[in-house]
Amino acid sequence: MPQRFRHMLGIEPLSAEQIAFLLDQSKSFQDIQRHPLKKLATLRGKTVALAFFEPSTRTRISFATAAARLGADTMNLQAEVSSLRKGESLLDTVRTLDAMKPDCIVMRHSASGAPEFVAGQLEIPVINAGDGTHEHPTQALLDALTIRDRKSALMGLNVTILGDILHSRVARSNLHLLGKFGCRFTLCGPAMWLPRELECLGYPVRRVARVEEALEAADVIIVLRVQQERLHEPALPLEEYILLYQLTPKRLGLARPDALVLHPGPMIRGLEIAGRAHGPAVPAHRNTFGRFRGRRRCCTLRTGA
Ligand code: ASP
Repeated sequence: MPQRFRHMLGIEPLSAEQIAFLLDQSKSFQDIQRHPLKKLATLRGKTVALAFFEPSTRTRISFATAAARLGADTMNLQAEVSSLRKGESLLDTVRTLDAMKPDCIVMRHSASGAPEFVAGQLEIPVINAGDGTHEHPTQALLDALTIRDRKSALMGLNVTILGDILHSRVARSNLHLLGKFGCRFTLCGPAMWLPRELECLGYPVRRVARVEEALEAADVIIVLRVQQERLHEPALPLEEYILLYQLTPKRLGLARPDALVLHPGPMIRGLEIAGRAHGPAVPAHRNTFGRFRGRRRCCTLRTGA
């Protein structure tokens, strides 16, 4: 068994062996999802605090469901209606949660490094559910499990990451994880969203301007959402982004026939990926890009995350 760790703050410090161990462990839990009776007693008597200081749908529900299915109780902090709105500090808020004796805290925050900071202050394990532009380790583990299930191994795949890479914690965690298994990366997107620093991580990374070139020979394509809430570069015309970087069926035809496309969600159809938003409300599209405005619909500058 590989060396155990107390917190799950990021993929970067983990070894390939530790990651493979986690993926192997998850297999039996995956099978249980298919059973009519999904409840286990693995965490019976334990309490998991869910502290989400940023919006979340999939991650929050996944953790709540996982806790329930493993027999744990959950404590939910709703940042929008908590005392944070009254000016309470992050530390005081998490100390209040801690006073109720949870056994673990799952935390999402807009500030990179916030979970690590909290881990240094509390005695209980902290799981990072996404911190700023830094890491989203459980998303990368889930992506790796999906890739391994579909491709049977992680070793040596050609992985193309498309879109807003600069602001993406998903991209960073996936680079660290898949990079430890010898994958090769092609990064594609507007030049200002392709950080050079990612070429210095020690993994084979190339930056490509044309999406057509980036898709050729790709085994796995990770499409990212434009992180509008974290943008602080010059405005980018929406039409230009769609024209140059949107993943369309025609472009997808350039990838290997068995290429796997992953998107961490929320997916903005009609922007990073071709298609239209369906369902009773279009707002998912409209709201998210409400800051694209004017005839050319540019996204405005925003400072801070
Ligand atoms: N859900 C992912 C995250 O929280 C991706 C996204 O929001 O675009 O980072």
